[in-house]
Amino acid sequence: MVLHKGKTSRQDRAGGSNPLHGGANPALAAELSLPHVRFRDDALPPDTALQLVRDELMLDGNARLNLATFVTTWMEPQARELMAECVDKNMIDKDEYPQTAELEQRCVTMLADLWHAPDPGEVMGCSTTGSSEACMLAGMALKRRWSKLGRTGRPNLVMGANVQVCWEKFCEYWEVEPRLVPMEGDRFHLGAEQAVAHCDENTIGVVAILGSTFDGSYEPVAEITAALDELAAGGGPDIPVHVDGASGAMVAPFLDEDLVWDFRLPRVASINTSGHKYGLVYPGVGWVLWRDAAALPSELVFTVNYLGGDLPTFALNFSRPGAEVAAQYYTFVRLGREGYRAVQQASRDVATSLADRIGELGPFRLLTRGDQLPVFAVTTAAGVTAFDVFDVSQRLRERGWQVPAYTFPENRTDLAVLRIVVRNGFTHDLADLLLADLSRVVGELGKQPKPRRDPATSTGFHH
Ligand SMILES: *Cc1c(COP(=O)(O)O)cnc(C)c1O
Repeated sequence: MVLHKGKTSRQDRAGGSNPLHGGANPALAAELSLPHVRFRDDALPPDTALQLVRDELMLDGNARLNLATFVTTWMEPQARELMAECVDKNMIDKDEYPQTAELEQRCVTMLADLWHAPDPGEVMGCSTTGSSEACMLAGMALKRRWSKLGRTGRPNLVMGANVQVCWEKFCEYWEVEPRLVPMEGDRFHLGAEQAVAHCDENTIGVVAILGSTFDGSYEPVAEITAALDELAAGGGPDIPVHVDGASGAMVAPFLDEDLVWDFRLPRVASINTSGHKYGLVYPGVGWVLWRDAAALPSELVFTVNYLGGDLPTFALNFSRPGAEVAAQYYTFVRLGREGYRAVQQASRDVATSLADRIGELGPFRLLTRGDQLPVFAVTTAAGVTAFDVFDVSQRLRERGWQVPAYTFPENRTDLAVLRIVVRNGFTHDLADLLLADLSRVVGELGKQPKPRRDPATSTGFHH
């Protein structure tokens, strides 16, 4: 959430309408302005308030044209109906809503099975508000495990410079040194050799990402764990791995069954995912699972009352809506493995075909092609001097498409890309429309003398 700074100067005009009579005045909404800095003195009829707020929200973008976000922008009407029914349920109130708690537990066990936990019954896990909270919890468990080893140095966490901003937050909030392994040449994510080279006895863990938000590529989790196995076997520190599967943990199990990245690797201690990304639920749900009780120090677990008994919880939040968890369970029931496979395959098909066709346009070079996450990054081809990716992003925005342009981190700040995230509901038809707009835009941009903005002033990107 954005931290808002209070406004001070604007004076609000508060209409003096009588709430009981307001509904009869056809011009009431036109006479009112919304409060910006202080509460109105009087109340408004609900329809008037609804219209005023709804009108203001028209300025928000159209979520279906947003190719920047990984977060679900479309669910079936049945899911919306279920969420509306559960909107008043408080997730923490396990005593009053034991069945919602039961659905959460089922989701955890089903994910444990999906991610090949040797014994899903041993897995500890919970829902969260998203992967950010999930990553905080996983990082706290790693830090606590490390501190029990009795080492005295400053704890550090090893990860690629391409990590999502939540990991930098974790390090700042919990006072852990972030050891960001830089990109190098055409390696845009963490490599096994480089990960191990950054580890020492104060490393609380290595984070491997499935897949990178920068370009949609999967990090080589199995190679990273193998290199750490070797380090430990040679007398070095025994370092656990957390897999940040915010997107990929709900893609790879359905589309890349042979890829070994999960609890099949004994060194993987914990895994998170965003239920609201490729888990296909509206914003507000994530998951984090630990292989077994040993991976989650018991001091971090608190208990809440549950039907007269105690239920363990681990969370940063207390009260939280239960609707997202019900919607996640609905989606698991509704789709099953075959349904998830079909939805994710459709996204991957759209992504790979769109990537290929953008590659064929001429002025672009693909960095990835959407065959891991259904996400790809492109940059301008060598020899394109009239425009840059920032121009393209801005011109697409004029048609309502949101395609972010950003520069890569340290060591490859010379590289600026456009990234396209294909989600459920982004069809081949919409892809055709985007491609038509894109080719028109590059035709026009090709005629300008040089890029409009100085790439040096463009900012990095972390999500
Ligand atoms: C999106 C994302 C996050 C943060 O997830 P939220 O669910 O938005 O809190 C963390 N890591 C990765 C790799 C992501 O893609």
